[in-house]
Amino acid sequence: MTLAASTPDQPVVPRLEIKDLRRSFAGRPVVDGVSLQIMPGQVTCLLGPSGCGKSTTLRMIAGVEMQDSGTIHVDGKLICDTVFRIPPERREIGLMFQDFALFPHLSVADNVAFGLKGSKAEKRVRVEELLARVDLLRFIDGYPHQLSGGEQQRVALARALAPKPRIMLMDEPFSGLDNRLRDGIRDETLSILKGEDTAVLLVTHEPDEAMRMADEIALMRDGKIVQQGAPYNVYTRPLDRAAVAFFSDAN
Ligand code: ADP
Ligand code: MG
Repeated sequence: MTLAASTPDQPVVPRLEIKDLRRSFAGRPVVDGVSLQIMPGQVTCLLGPSGCGKSTTLRMIAGVEMQDSGTIHVDGKLICDTVFRIPPERREIGLMFQDFALFPHLSVADNVAFGLKGSKAEKRVRVEELLARVDLLRFIDGYPHQLSGGEQQRVALARALAPKPRIMLMDEPFSGLDNRLRDGIRDETLSILKGEDTAVLLVTHEPDEAMRMADEIALMRDGKIVQQGAPYNVYTRPLDRAAVAFFSDAN
């Protein structure tokens, strides 16, 4: 885990801090008081069974869903509470979803450049840098259909990282991939993310994935974070029977 330098007078400010986020649908609390802090360079996995409120939490951070209460701060600055709200496109957040596909009619270069501002030449420099990072420079003028699933995934990662997001939100990004490829792609993705100055919140229902990728696991159930800590600690010291069952039943 890489943390920003800190001195006694200058505490490290979390890159992302959410406090007591809540959201109900039709009177039913779906996110029921979730609080989290993620430092720059850190990967936190929000892990829990289907329907526990993971995606809704992510969508509120992205700004595409509005919370009923609670606050979101980025680098110590308020970006959203119940009265003030910075729109999604100004939150400097990168997104990766399972079905967040590449644009089939655009070249690999144009896919990666999609969210970039600046001159054509400036964009090309950043696109080349990113494609080199994900080891796909040779496909710069190719099209998505010429790439394997794993390669498309790496282009999607390059596209999400291109505008240098402060935060990366990833919602089950590997679940559409072939089982045999998945572990390799998880490792590659992690090493690419670790080279960027970004805080990562990765949503998954697969304990394996969280164990493999997380610096910290936040175990979620029924809209609440029920346990939080280093993967090894959460796995070896589950708080209750439900946590034990989740780790052994999932998959
Ligand atoms: P997860 O990502 O953990 O599987 P979600 O956050 O997608 O869970 O959903 C949690 C619960 O909230 C589910 O029961 C889902 O049906 C419900 N839900 C999510 N979004 C809406 C919505 N826009 N309207 C009504 N119910 C919703
Ligand atoms: Mg979900």
